[in-house]
Amino acid sequence: MLLPNADTIAAVATAQGRGGVGVVRISGCGIEEFARDILGKLPVARHATYTDFLDEDGEPLDQGIALYFPAPHSYTGEDVLELQGHGGPAVLQMLLQRCLDLGARLAQPGEFTRRAYLNDKLDLAQAESVADLIEANTAQAARSAMRSLRGEFSAAIHGMVDELIQLRMLVEAMLDFPEEDVDSGDVSRRDALLKVILLKLQHTLDSARQGCLLREGAHIVIAGQPNVGKSSLLNQLSGEEIALVSNIPGTTRDVIRQVIQIRGVPLHLMDTAGLRESQDTVENMGIARTHQTLRRADLILLLLDASKGMTSQDEVILAGLPEDIPRLLVFNKADLLDGKEVHVHSRDPSVRVSAKTGAGLDDLRGKLLEMVGWRDQESGAFMARERHLQALAAAQNHLTQAQTLLTRAELFAEELRLAQRALSEITGEFTADDLLGEIFSRFCIGK
Ligand code: GDP
Repeated sequence: MLLPNADTIAAVATAQGRGGVGVVRISGCGIEEFARDILGKLPVARHATYTDFLDEDGEPLDQGIALYFPAPHSYTGEDVLELQGHGGPAVLQMLLQRCLDLGARLAQPGEFTRRAYLNDKLDLAQAESVADLIEANTAQAARSAMRSLRGEFSAAIHGMVDELIQLRMLVEAMLDFPEEDVDSGDVSRRDALLKVILLKLQHTLDSARQGCLLREGAHIVIAGQPNVGKSSLLNQLSGEEIALVSNIPGTTRDVIRQVIQIRGVPLHLMDTAGLRESQDTVENMGIARTHQTLRRADLILLLLDASKGMTSQDEVILAGLPEDIPRLLVFNKADLLDGKEVHVHSRDPSVRVSAKTGAGLDDLRGKLLEMVGWRDQESGAFMARERHLQALAAAQNHLTQAQTLLTRAELFAEELRLAQRALSEITGEFTADDLLGEIFSRFCIGK
């Protein structure tokens, strides 16, 4: 099971800086000798041993707790030694150097977890959730990463793969018979089994989308004419004076980004240069950038001045927005309306707010979450990444295609095979080395 010829790696596993405790972790072969050299003895396996950590002359460098986890019952699946010393940069550096002097190599980012994956202690989706748990900024994100780390996401994937394998066996057993001989009973059995898998896939995709939203957030662009209050709204939503607010049209010349959180969901808000014809080159560059930003958005907020209603210039902007991106019309400056109605000439959803008084902002927040796809049942979210969503969507495409090929056993079986392959990429059974490199290089050192 263990990696052949794996060398011994060492790293400080705790964050940089000063702390009560700091941990140096060593994994690989020859750990017994490392322990005898540094501790003067081999600690009892999986027991906390209070001991001196010794330098090459047998003098104590530090004292603390040593933990020895013989393979395969360790994080990496290899022999692991953990030294819990005092959490100061100098003392941890000395301990680490001692391990390097004894022949260990400095671990690369994520290398402990990579070994855990290669030794089958975790699958790839679980390994990714380790990094996601460490990086989680909100309680919701941490909880959904934990759910994936415990294997709930992987179990859902494995469940579907098992059912696909059964269906494939059923079909592939028939491949030697001429296609005319397929009876209607076979076809309806295929159809029924496929529908069950597709239903589960849809459910998993929904949960994964929620997790992905928690992890990666959504990109929302605020567009609209100069002076309608884009910067003011951004400030209100983020609670900080970040965008430059003035009543001279054209003040916001570049794209200003701010991340806000609504119920734990990160929303990347981008305020854009006002959209209008201008003689000013700098402003025009801003406008060109606005159009680029718009095309990458998950949602566009078109801000309008409620006191003016929808003007012909607003209609021009609205017509110029990318059609496939959902948009929300936000009538700002509602405080100037004095109870008057606003006439909306559009089928897009709309809200009324006042960036000045804060009126309507809670409604706006709720609407934003709804429109980026957040469903308030986040207890079922799996922490997922874009790569997982793509693989789930690819599997869904192959299975939908298979539904049209129920009587064509060979083609049907091929679509099932491709769907299974897409699903297996998530948990890492079919994964290119460069993808692994990419995934683990984003980890912190010592994990
Ligand atoms: P931008 O050019 O779209 O970014 O607009 P700004 O945020 O710079 O706002 C332009 C002007 O409108 C400023 O004088 C703001 O104080 C004012 N303003 C913004 N929002 C409101 C609002 O809700 N009500 C009122 N009465 N004035 C507002």
